[in-house]
Amino acid sequence: MSLVMPPPDPATLARRAEIVAAMRAIVPGEGVIDALEALRPYESDALTAYAQVPLLVVLPETVEQVAAVLRWCHENRVKVVPRGAGTSLSGGALPLADGVLLGMARFNRVLDIDYADRVAVVQPGVTNLAITRAVEDAGFYYAPDPSSQIACTIGGNVAENSGGVHCLKYGLTTNNVLGVELVTIEGEVVRLGGRGLEPAGLDLLGVIVGSEGLLGVVTEVTVRILPRPETAKALLIGFPDVESAGVCVAQIIAAGIIPAGMEMMDKPAINAAEAFVNAGYPLDVEALLIVELDGPGAECGHLTGEVEAIARAHGAVSVQASRDDAERALFWAGRKAAFPAAGRISPDYYCMDGTIPRRRLPEVLTRMKALSEQYGLGVINVFHAGDGNLHPLILYDANQPGQLERAEAFGADILKLCVEVGGVLTGEHGVGVEKRDLMHTMFSETDLAQQQRVKCAFDPELLLNPGKMFPELHRCAELGRMHVHRGQVPFPELPRF
Ligand SMILES: Cc1cc2nc3c(=O)[nH]c(=O)nc-3n(C[C@H](O)[C@H](O)[C@H](O)COP(=O)(O)OP(=O)(O)OC[C@H]3O[C@@H](n4cnc5c(N)ncnc54)[C@H](O)[C@@H]3O)c2cc1C
Repeated sequence: MSLVMPPPDPATLARRAEIVAAMRAIVPGEGVIDALEALRPYESDALTAYAQVPLLVVLPETVEQVAAVLRWCHENRVKVVPRGAGTSLSGGALPLADGVLLGMARFNRVLDIDYADRVAVVQPGVTNLAITRAVEDAGFYYAPDPSSQIACTIGGNVAENSGGVHCLKYGLTTNNVLGVELVTIEGEVVRLGGRGLEPAGLDLLGVIVGSEGLLGVVTEVTVRILPRPETAKALLIGFPDVESAGVCVAQIIAAGIIPAGMEMMDKPAINAAEAFVNAGYPLDVEALLIVELDGPGAECGHLTGEVEAIARAHGAVSVQASRDDAERALFWAGRKAAFPAAGRISPDYYCMDGTIPRRRLPEVLTRMKALSEQYGLGVINVFHAGDGNLHPLILYDANQPGQLERAEAFGADILKLCVEVGGVLTGEHGVGVEKRDLMHTMFSETDLAQQQRVKCAFDPELLLNPGKMFPELHRCAELGRMHVHRGQVPFPELPRF
């Protein structure tokens, strides 16, 4: 593997017994894990190509314990990696050999549900799907729905700004989180945002959502809950080629229709998902669109007709509408199981996550096919077509020498291609370690230094999740240094202290 992580600090490794004892004093009982065989399950997240046994695992149960752990680690210069369910696909929760892995799984309670304000207050270890489960009897749901929603936690969703098939219409995590409680590395407990849509002051909540565990540990989340739409219908639309499916996606949006979800699968993905779930997908097409329309019955019926007409006009060879909610759920089940389905046809797969302008879709898919031939590795395409967020799954076998390295190089080329056509390195899986070394393809040194200044404002000793997101971490003092050129102080009119 080509990933290089910050070298472990020998002094921290030598103090392991002392650190374990200090953590046990804060989190009693079974909340501290230090035996090697019990640490192994934590050695990687869903980016399983990379693994590292952590120094130890701490599983706090209260905010006071989280604050005390972070305060002790700060005072003793010990690194900390926060972890939810460990489903990150970018290696965000990859442990460090000299770092405490702070597991938030025991924070698993729904604290408050307020239907009048349409909010739910939950602990960060509550799974994404459990929020919907907690409010569905009252006709509500939590909109962002990562395919991993049965397992991933809302704390992880906040840290990664996660998306899902319904984010095209209802927004990503950042559009559905109203407030968080956060513990800083110094052990201070702060509240950002609240229950309203527009909190006072600087938008620090916006800084925290998507900060990948680098700025603080989230200990409570307030999310918007929405009333279930009156009707929802999903269409399975088959195309003879991916190009016409791509054009159809652009035309639906251009017609002013924002479907609740609009996903595309190519032939290998259709075949894999159908064999796994029996969702009723057509097997004689090259590309499949799943388009969901929702809203009041009359609106939903009208839009369904409009989408079908656009699809037929752009070469669709089959259109099948869900007859009831069970069938609609089945259509989505195939899509949501596409990743595990890929696991049945290849020993390993590497899931990429880049975003491109929708209109460049056909060209990018063609170039990806050429890259697949160049690297000699298969690729399956499943993606959030409505928002241009690609998830190519590169198929490889880690037991074959050189295949992981080829998969990594192939993946890097795909992400560079996304940036080249005007897109971005990530859509929803985060940077983590996976895209860290590609940040230069998108950001200049100045951009990266500015981003790191934000990190330094929260964590000046660089103890929280180091080695992730930034290709190299500069000492904060360097970044804060004022550049005086030929005796000219910048902004001389400003008072200096
Ligand atoms: C099969 C599969 C399908 C997936 N589908 C999607 C999808 O459709 N959309 C999508 O966006 N993602 C998807 N993912 C990726 C993943 O599920 C999300 O990134 C998810 O939000 C991670 O949540 P987690 O609880 O597992 O977090 P972890 O993997 O444990 O951690 C992820 C990051 O969050 C940080 N973190 C975790 N908890 C906290 C906390 N309390 N405070 C501060 N930082 C914290 C960690 O340090 C790490 O950087 C998928 C993953 C898999 C395996």
